[in-house]
Amino acid sequence: MADLRSEARDWIADHWDPNRTLGEWWDELARAGWAFPHWPTGHGGRGLTREDARVVNEELAAAQAVAPPGGLGQMMGGPVTIDFGDDDQQDRWLMALASGQEGWCQLFSEPGAGSDLASVQTRAIRDGDVWIVNGQKVWTSGATSATRGMLVARTNLDAPKHRGITYFIIDMDQPGVEVRPLKQMNGGATFNEVFFTDAVVPHDCILGGVDTGWQVAVATLAYERQGLGSRGAAGGIVAGTPGAKAGHLDVPMSELIERARADRAAMERGQAARSPKSVIALAREQGKNQDPVIRQGLADLYVFAEVQRYTSLRARAAVQQGRQPGPEVSIAKLAASEQARRARDLSMRILGAHGTLMSPDAPNDGTFSQLALSVHGSSIAGGTDEIQRNIIGERVLGLPKEPQVDRDVAFKDLDVGTRSRGS
Ligand SMILES: Cc1cc2nc3c(=O)[nH]c(=O)nc-3n(C[C@H](O)[C@H](O)[C@H](O)COP(=O)(O)OP(=O)(O)OC[C@H]3O[C@@H](n4cnc5c(N)ncnc54)[C@H](O)[C@@H]3O)c2cc1C
Repeated sequence: MADLRSEARDWIADHWDPNRTLGEWWDELARAGWAFPHWPTGHGGRGLTREDARVVNEELAAAQAVAPPGGLGQMMGGPVTIDFGDDDQQDRWLMALASGQEGWCQLFSEPGAGSDLASVQTRAIRDGDVWIVNGQKVWTSGATSATRGMLVARTNLDAPKHRGITYFIIDMDQPGVEVRPLKQMNGGATFNEVFFTDAVVPHDCILGGVDTGWQVAVATLAYERQGLGSRGAAGGIVAGTPGAKAGHLDVPMSELIERARADRAAMERGQAARSPKSVIALAREQGKNQDPVIRQGLADLYVFAEVQRYTSLRARAAVQQGRQPGPEVSIAKLAASEQARRARDLSMRILGAHGTLMSPDAPNDGTFSQLALSVHGSSIAGGTDEIQRNIIGERVLGLPKEPQVDRDVAFKDLDVGTRSRGS
């Protein structure tokens, strides 16, 4: 471990130069195997364990260097390509992800398939060496800058819903794929609708076999949970989105670092708005800290946040000791969205009519109003609050599983998603 640490440290000292472009740095990191050290050698990694790979992240952070490319493709697409892809697929995709040349999006959710993902209706029909895709996805984060997408599509109507799904890696740059950004109520537009009209995906872009894509989808979601759980882990400065379409690859890193610092400061203000400390400061500032009802709310928020902090520490300790995080992850996720809602309600009560303002001259630059309009996302993304409660009910409290009456019924005979039987 000490050898690895000093090798990584020396390499970073020799190669890190903020005046080079992001594309050059990411390319060099990938070629040296430092981008994702736990990926296979020659594919952006060195075949190390995840534990050893963490040492490299720590060294990148210590040097204040830019982190390897991050995005859904790197977090989930690379790992499932390693688990399910053949040699040719690994050759085609891993290095492009490791060096940030490509960013991928996750084409899972549909208007009628979110929590019940196995009800996807987007169809893929084989035509010789290619498959023709028709249907619609929604909530697709980052689709405007993605090079490829991880697509789950229905390929067999006669099989039960979990057994007729195929997992494709589809090229997003083609006439049959239309991406329409969705404007959010907080002003952002981070996700999109994606429409497929006779889109084409070659047969050799299937991961995990025809009709057996459900296993790959489940593995993808497990990597997503793991990635979300380790957010904020040391690994250098996060600057720039992967993929040529995002427009960052040719930019000198010194410029991107400046922008990243400003973005991070804004994000941290948003995150901090959920903490008892910020809401207490707001109450003082607004002269409401002697109001007994507000004080009661502040005490309640403080106690809740402390319990939630200890739960997260338990989950983190499990990962550090090489154990899979258990149901703590569901509890921590549920508690985080509950804490954000409590902070929202209390801060809006403190601000009164000022809570409706969202501009730089609003109290606290409108940060609490931004929180009020953004908080809903955390109760939905990565599994809704109700789904987390189901997991806790079944795995922690030992309650009976939800009935699954459709498990062995052909998909065409089900009323699911936005369709009715036989349509
Ligand atoms: C910020 C953000 C980013 C996202 N990015 C992506 C992305 O990049 N790619 C992608 O594919 N998807 C993405 N999603 C979509 C996300 O995965 C889905 O929104 C989520 O799975 C819920 O699905 P749904 O919206 O269809 O709601 P539904 O599943 O229709 O749920 C509607 C309501 O019913 C409840 N419900 C559903 N089933 C049950 C049950 N069995 N028991 C009790 N209650 C239930 C839910 O909790 C919810 O309150 C993103 C979502 C958000 C918020």
